[in-house]
Order: sequence, then C-alpha cells, then structure tokens
Amino acid sequence: MKHKMDTLCIHAGMTENEHLAVAPPIYQTSTFKFRDADHGAALFAGKEEGYIYTRMLNPTVKALEDAVAELENGHKGLGTASGMAAINTVFMAFVKAGDHVVCSESVYGPTSTSLEKVLVEFGVEHSFVDTSDLEAVKNAIRPNTKMVYVETPGNPTLVVSDIAEIAKIAHKAGAVLVVDNTFSSPVVQQPLEHGADIVVHSMTKFLNGHADVVAGMIVVKTEEQYKPCRYILNHLGGIIPPFEAFLVLRGIKTLSIRMKKHNENAQKIAEFLEAHPAVSWVKYPGLKSHPQHEIAKKQMNGYSGIISFELKGGLDAGKHMMNSVKIAQLAVSLGGVESLIQHPASMTHAGMPKELREQAGITDGLVRLSVGIEDADELIADLNQSMK
Ligand SMILES: *Cc1c(COP(=O)(O)O)cnc(C)c1O
Repeated sequence: MKHKMDTLCIHAGMTENEHLAVAPPIYQTSTFKFRDADHGAALFAGKEEGYIYTRMLNPTVKALEDAVAELENGHKGLGTASGMAAINTVFMAFVKAGDHVVCSESVYGPTSTSLEKVLVEFGVEHSFVDTSDLEAVKNAIRPNTKMVYVETPGNPTLVVSDIAEIAKIAHKAGAVLVVDNTFSSPVVQQPLEHGADIVVHSMTKFLNGHADVVAGMIVVKTEEQYKPCRYILNHLGGIIPPFEAFLVLRGIKTLSIRMKKHNENAQKIAEFLEAHPAVSWVKYPGLKSHPQHEIAKKQMNGYSGIISFELKGGLDAGKHMMNSVKIAQLAVSLGGVESLIQHPASMTHAGMPKELREQAGITDGLVRLSVGIEDADELIADLNQSMK
C-alpha cells in the first residue's frame, strides 16, 4: 500500500536493522569488511549486494536516499555533499561537450554561474530563458539540446513554470527535464508526477529544515538514469557523509507538519504585505495576483514558505527593514524553522551579471523572506514595525 505523505515522512527509508533500533543507526565508517576474498571480489563485480567503501555507498546514506526517493515517488536517490554537488553531478552525468542546456533564467545564483563560467569551459552551451513562457522554451531548443533545467518556483523571483508542459517540449526534443525542487520539497510538489525525469534538491533547506546541515539529493526515475549519476558521483566524490544523512533523516520526520505551517504562515504574511501601503509588489505563488497562480495551484500542494517583495522606498527601505526586524534573522539560506531575510542583488545573486539579473526580474530593491514556523501574528507585527 502506498502511504500518505504524513505517514511517509515518518516511515520512508526505515528498514529493519540488526538491533531493531527505531532510529536509523549511523554507520560512521569509511570502509566495510569482506567475509573473505571471494566475497570482496563478488561485491566489486556486482554479483552480490553489499557495502564496500563509504564514498561508493553507506547504509545510513542509503536509508536517506530511499526515503527521499519514496517521497518524490522516484526510482532511486543519490545523496550528495550539497545542493550544488547534486546539480553539478547531474550536469556531468547527462551533458557533454557540444551539448546544449536550456535553463530557467531565475535560478539559484551558483547554478547559473556553473553553466556560465564552469561548464562553458568544458564545451557545454546554454540558454537562459523565462521558463514560465512556453514559447520561449520552445524557441530556445536547438538540435543539440540534451537537457532542460527548471527551477520552480524560481529563486528569488518565485516565477512558476509549468512542469507538465515543459516535459512535453523537452521530450519531443529528446532532452531530459531536470527540476530543482528545493523551494517546495516533495510535500508541496512532486515534479516526477508531472513528467520531469530528474529532481534535484538542496536538502540544506526544507528537507533538513533546521539550518544545521549542508547536503543535496538527486532523485531519478529509471535505472538507466541512476547508473551514470552514481558513476559520476562516485568519481567526483561529492557524497553526503553518514552523520549528515542521519540528521536529514531526522529532519524529514517533521517535513510534512513543518510544510503545513510554512504554507500557512507565508500565505498570511504575503497577504499582509500585499495590503500594506509601503509595499510596491509581492510575489508569492499563493496570491491571486501571482502571474502563474493557476499553474501553481495545478502542480503544487500549498505554496511553500518563500516570499519576495519590494518596498516603495526601494533598496534603502529594504535595508532599513533588514536591519530592524527582530524575529526574522538577516542571513542567506532558506527553508528552515526560523525566518530568514536577505537581499539577493547584493548577496545570493551578486555573482550574476546585472544584465541577466534585471532580465530575470531580480531588481535591486527585491527582498527575499523565508518564512519560518514561528507565530504568524508575531512575524507580521515585526515586519509591520520595521516598515514604520
Ligand atoms: C540553496 C539552493 C541550492 C544549492 O544548495 P547548497 O546545498 O547550498 O549547495 C540550489 N538550488 C536552490 C533553489 C537553492 O535554494
């Protein structure tokens, strides 16, 4: 029987262990003994299942991979050292020199830098497009397009792209569709269910949720996709250590209940900001004013916890707010139980060329708020006093 999300978050990936421990054991070991020489040879030849060396796979990591794969309704997961390790492992596994990637223009800063500065050196071409515009996606496809890479909702503009429609375009062109699902977590959005081939996560954010781990995850749909990812991950070496895997497994226990509170708090705060006279605009997929609200409603279950907005006073007013809020803390990252506020143009997206930033709608006055699970009315009162 397929469990509901609340149940899955508690039980996914949890298998019986030697001592019947309820919590997953942390296999804090770099290597594993072979029973004898033949056993070692059989493991290396893939004739027998078992663990060899932690860079290749570790039981605590495997438990987490199974858990997230189950939450995303995928075939298998691959735990990585960070979200960027997941993203770059996927690039390395699916594109090579001469190939072309179509990528959302509103993406996590280092993702665009990876394509623009690193992968170009390896002969990989790219186009950044507004992936909420299906015609723009179609027009960006070239004969050598091997991947369409979408972040939805996109960071930090919260532009929403239609996963099912983009999957059709990508598949018609013979390309894989990769979705960065960090902003939603599998509780809010399951891209594979809408036709995506591969999901990547920064588990640093909602999946872990407690601002104490940097980690990532890849979830694939088929064994044919899994093999090249595992091969690249094993050789590049960007794996998640067992202790971090344990912490993320622990975080996932409360993912479903946390996401409900993130959704609820962010909706209230977005509505408060939109009605406030000092605010010029608010982007939150749960607002009726959001240009892709209907698409968000179709493919998301709740609208997650990230809001971006601009104050009428522009950057100066935004700075004043960031310096005077008392509950939300001025820090990058997002998706934790604590509210965080930051300024993308001078912080997370400072590495992106100004032209590309403006094209993607990341204005100099844009403030990004990651709404935590504190009391919503207190968060609102705090934002209100910071706008006085
Ligand atoms: C944070 C983030 C990443 C990168 O993750 P790290 O764990 O910091 O490497 C990628 N995509 C999105 C949408 C993010 O928010």
